[in-house]
Amino acid sequence: MVAPIQAIRGMNDILPQDTFLWQFIENNLRDVLQSYGYQEIRTPVLEKTELFKRSIGEATDIVEKEMYTFLDRSNESLTLRPEGTAGTVRAGIEHGLLYNQIQRLWYLGENFRYERPQKGRYRQFFQCGAEVFGLQGPDIDAELILMAGKIFEKLGLKSAVTLQLNSLGSIESRKTYRHELVNYFTDHKNELDEDSLRRLTTNPLRILDSKNPSLKHLIENAPKLMDHLDPESADHFDKLQNYLTLAGLDFTLNPCLVRGLDYYTKTVFEWVTTELGAQGTVCAGGRYDGLVEQLGGKPTPALGFALGMERTVLLLQQKSHAPHLLDIYFMTDGEPAFQKGLELTAKLRDQVPGLNVIQHCGGGALKNQFKKADKIGARFGMILGEQELKDRTITIKPLRESTPQVTIPEDQLIDWVKSH
Ligand code: ATP
Ligand code: MG
Repeated sequence: MVAPIQAIRGMNDILPQDTFLWQFIENNLRDVLQSYGYQEIRTPVLEKTELFKRSIGEATDIVEKEMYTFLDRSNESLTLRPEGTAGTVRAGIEHGLLYNQIQRLWYLGENFRYERPQKGRYRQFFQCGAEVFGLQGPDIDAELILMAGKIFEKLGLKSAVTLQLNSLGSIESRKTYRHELVNYFTDHKNELDEDSLRRLTTNPLRILDSKNPSLKHLIENAPKLMDHLDPESADHFDKLQNYLTLAGLDFTLNPCLVRGLDYYTKTVFEWVTTELGAQGTVCAGGRYDGLVEQLGGKPTPALGFALGMERTVLLLQQKSHAPHLLDIYFMTDGEPAFQKGLELTAKLRDQVPGLNVIQHCGGGALKNQFKKADKIGARFGMILGEQELKDRTITIKPLRESTPQVTIPEDQLIDWVKSH
């Protein structure tokens, strides 16, 4: 017998038992993004390597050590996209979508990074991103962040994540700060680890992002970017915080929050969770006013976020956040009840948009039908037995809540379902 071939390490199959959760997330994402007027863009998985080097920056983890890069048959260096912003900006410039225009875009797709696979960190992973071009005020920063908040709310994950905010200021104010930071860490050179020593010359802000616990104290006492903001960035940041407060969205300021990528300016944010161990960032983003120009377009303010799909799936797999798989499992006892059931389930699907209903097929005792309903994770079991058929009623049993079962007249069924 030949040995079976296995998938590549860190690249997951998504199996039927989990696709339901993916679809649940995807449907909610689409609904929210489209309700805010964002339009979908789809770009290729492969781009010229140069695109990522120029946008993400040479001194980043991604470009230094995580990209899947190869020469194609005509010796051109290509890279599987490690993130979605670069390709979106490239396409926007190439098709004239950005100059003097406002665009609200979103995408969903796979990315590739050669990382050490572990829970919440894979070599192929999916991100849903939103990117806005052509707006420079804090109003749009607020919209984007509130929209991300709405996504978590729709997914039932509001209590699982918290928002952290920081401002990186303008590129100029960051230069002054960078200088001060380098001085500070140079004074404490003997306390730095190998990674941070390297970053001290290449990308010192990234030291703030270090996950090494022995650097925690040193980082906490480092000079703060927030104290070095230029007046315009400070005003932008104040207004943003005010909008979020007005909208009732809680956040915490995290002065050590810097994004891994070079191109961010002003607002940066992360939605984090404590439920996934080390891989705590579920959604990350910010403003990147310099990127379009850096990639050869006209100067265009821009901002965006990317939400990690696998980490979102992991959160939904926690029992306390698990969504129900199915609204109704409809059970019947005997042939006449089955026939009546066909009529009622068809009516439910027609008259209650978005409802999903399985009518039990294959007969058998009600007890066994209940077992199926439970296993599939239905929210309600509906029973049409001999008695119900005679009385023109339906019995409804909540399967995921501890509320009592009820028997209602058949002609009230649609109203009952709508109100639940
Ligand atoms: P981290 O610090 O966790 O490596 P990052 O700064 O590299 O994250 P981004 O490039 O900002 O991450 O990507 C945005 C989001 O995409 C992350 O917050 C995370 O949810 C998800 N993500 C990034 N890399 C991976 C990966 N290798 N596997 C799964 N999800 C990922
Ligand atoms: Mg990373």
